[in-house]
Amino acid sequence: MSAPRPRTAVLGTGEVPWDAPVVPADDPGLRGDGVFETLLVHGGTPPRVVRLPEHLDRFERSAAVLGHRLDRAAWADLVVGITDDVPAGAEAVLRLAASAGVCTATLRPLPAGVRRGRDGVHVVTLARGASTVPDAPWLLRAAKTSSYAVNSAALREARRRGADDALFLDGAGEVLEAPTANLLWCARGRWWTPPQAGRAVLPGTTLAALAVELAAREASCRPADLLRADGAWLLSSLRGAAPVRSLDGAPLPVDATLTGRLQRTAVGL
Ligand code: PLP
Repeated sequence: MSAPRPRTAVLGTGEVPWDAPVVPADDPGLRGDGVFETLLVHGGTPPRVVRLPEHLDRFERSAAVLGHRLDRAAWADLVVGITDDVPAGAEAVLRLAASAGVCTATLRPLPAGVRRGRDGVHVVTLARGASTVPDAPWLLRAAKTSSYAVNSAALREARRRGADDALFLDGAGEVLEAPTANLLWCARGRWWTPPQAGRAVLPGTTLAALAVELAAREASCRPADLLRADGAWLLSSLRGAAPVRSLDGAPLPVDATLTGRLQRTAVGL
């Protein structure tokens, strides 16, 4: 199986050499005033971009929160062009990034570490505290902006503690989401995910797809609830449904058959 070749395109310009320096040093997106989307691409004839309409919906919503309007048709064309030769059997990462300065699409092979994460992740809880105060809508909670400093810091701290990923807790100790994924768990024969409205939780496209299939409901959740659950998964576009193998060092059950089923839906197979 051959790897997808790296490619880069600029909205309004078209494809450029994949390693061309296309983002100016003073681009507003570099200081958080931009939005982005990360999508999974399955190679083939033609290649398939997983849940492209849902990602473009969120891309538009995020941009609108920042006061920008996206040309959806132009973005869709850019996506078709840059993904057109992903070889069958390969997986690629498509990243769309938009700011008032420059708008880019990049295609890269799926990192091996992301693929490994599909086998399961060890997770630690991290307090997120003040960023969840309900009277601060200006904090851009439901927008996928290029301001990922807190998310990156959480992943760094998780790794420092010997884990793969983190789950954010709000000021009341309830679980919100992971730095780049939503939480889904199974308990008492039903599927659950933390409430989203008014909280620091990004509405995930993977969660939305699985929630429909599983008739998942929203429920508040503390780490202790997850330790009593029949299983928990971190959901995101690239890693799909990653089973949580441990939480703060305590093991969680992992059902391989069930995970396989969730994973197929999660990665759009
Ligand atoms: N929550 C956050 C903060 C994210 O950054 C992401 C994805 O990047 C998700 C959740 C999962 O979203 P999706 O399933 O659309 O990839």
